[in-house]
Amino acid sequence: MTTIFDRILAKEIPANVAYEDDKVLAFHDISPQAPIHVLVIPKTKWLRFADFVQADPIAIGEYMSSVAKVAKHLNLDENGYRIVFNNGRDGQQTVDYIHAHILGGRRLNWPPG
Ligand code: AMP
Repeated sequence: MTTIFDRILAKEIPANVAYEDDKVLAFHDISPQAPIHVLVIPKTKWLRFADFVQADPIAIGEYMSSVAKVAKHLNLDENGYRIVFNNGRDGQQTVDYIHAHILGGRRLNWPPG
């Protein structure tokens, strides 16, 4: 199924791009929950985090490394940040294209709701 993130990746609809390379696209969330709220999607699609059970570990590692690279690019390393993968219905995943949320720029609350 084509999602809004497929269409952002295809440049069919605009996004505020924070970082892009040959493996990932990172763009600012349209409804930010922190001063910095960026989504990182891999250019090779997985639907959700649960797909990692059967995915190529090297590809997973490259994706996770890219998420860390984007956080560094956003200058979040010193003060820290949170990575969130919402997965499935109870995880409140609303877009069926895997995406890491990078949240930072303020002290975040814990536990999440
Ligand atoms: P999730 O609930 O984990 O599936 O997160 C989906 C996220 O995508 C939400 O935080 C939305 O605010 C965000 N979102 C939806 N549409 C867009 C868009 N066109 N550009 C940027 N972020 C979006």
